[in-house]
Amino acid sequence: MTLVYLEISDGKIKKSGFEALNFAHKLGEDVIAVAIGSIADTTLLAEAGKYGASRVVYIAQPEFENNTYASLLSAAASQLGSNTVVISGTYSGKAIAPRVAVKLQAAIISGVVDLPADNAFKKGVFSGKAFAFVQTNASKKVITLTPNSFNIEEIGTEVSVENMSFDNNSQTPLTKSIEKIKAGGKIPLTEAEVVVSAGRGMKGPENWGMIEELADLLGAATACSKPVSDMHWRSHNEHVGQTGITIKPNLYIAIGISGAIQHLAGVSSSKVIVAINKDPEAPFFKVADYGIVGDAFEVIPQLINAAKTLNKA
Ligand SMILES: Cc1cc2nc3c(=O)[nH]c(=O)nc-3n(C[C@H](O)[C@H](O)[C@H](O)COP(=O)(O)OP(=O)(O)OC[C@H]3O[C@@H](n4cnc5c(N)ncnc54)[C@H](O)[C@@H]3O)c2cc1C
Repeated sequence: MTLVYLEISDGKIKKSGFEALNFAHKLGEDVIAVAIGSIADTTLLAEAGKYGASRVVYIAQPEFENNTYASLLSAAASQLGSNTVVISGTYSGKAIAPRVAVKLQAAIISGVVDLPADNAFKKGVFSGKAFAFVQTNASKKVITLTPNSFNIEEIGTEVSVENMSFDNNSQTPLTKSIEKIKAGGKIPLTEAEVVVSAGRGMKGPENWGMIEELADLLGAATACSKPVSDMHWRSHNEHVGQTGITIKPNLYIAIGISGAIQHLAGVSSSKVIVAINKDPEAPFFKVADYGIVGDAFEVIPQLINAAKTLNKA
């Protein structure tokens, strides 16, 4: 039996949890979804059944804390008889997965991007520049998935939700969050299917209105290159690349970004890349699926108009 951790954010199941359920279902064993957190309407969790869970367990917890969540998840895995735990590699997923593996004395395979073939799990390495295929003979394993690696399909129907509590071995929380300040964007960058990203070619922060407008019209998150956040044109939580966030959206639109190797390290696994640059020799064009050679200040208004027309149709 495979256990999948469902992350709750703003009272809802995070999309990455549905992706993890689909993946776990395809591993071939029964899937139990375990949601930990605070959700006003627990019947919302029944939806997990649509994505592959045959049982849904809810463990009420007031707030996220790595050690407490890892203890509860590993207790759930032991008591429900699960040898495989699947966790999406979100910020909190990455924080609890190694702790769960230690508590269960399990092998951990992180950053998985595909279903296993010949018992080997494919994972991205060297900032997505290469893949490794990893096998384990361990009887217990924890697998983290790179978000946006799998299509999400409805494959079942809703199931009833069981409220349960598990002994977390009187684990004292090691950290306490004092204040939470939400990062600016409407759509979390790591979960976005479409990302509109811009670089130094935008000349200054006063020109980001059109980037935001385009992103809004496309239902996209916004991102930026490192110099842009270094110069405080945009906040650091939008910085993608080797020293920033690694993302894997379905569509990455890079505007006025040269395509330096350090930037590409964080975005080159995007499914489709569109580069807009006035320099036809810009390195981004070598990795882009589509390119527009032109001045961003002329091209973006045209894209905005096209997106408006498309949204009206
Ligand atoms: C150790 C290390 C780590 C790094 N980590 C990162 C990282 O994580 N992420 C990252 O992004 N960078 C990183 N960098 C920096 C990286 O090397 C590049 O310097 C940076 O990505 C360049 O940002 P840019 O493309 O926005 O700016 P530029 O290199 O200045 O490129 C601007 C681009 O905009 C184009 N342009 C200009 N005007 C227009 C216009 N009107 N219309 C259309 N196009 C226009 C230009 O042709 C040019 O291609 C790192 C560097 C080092 C050394």
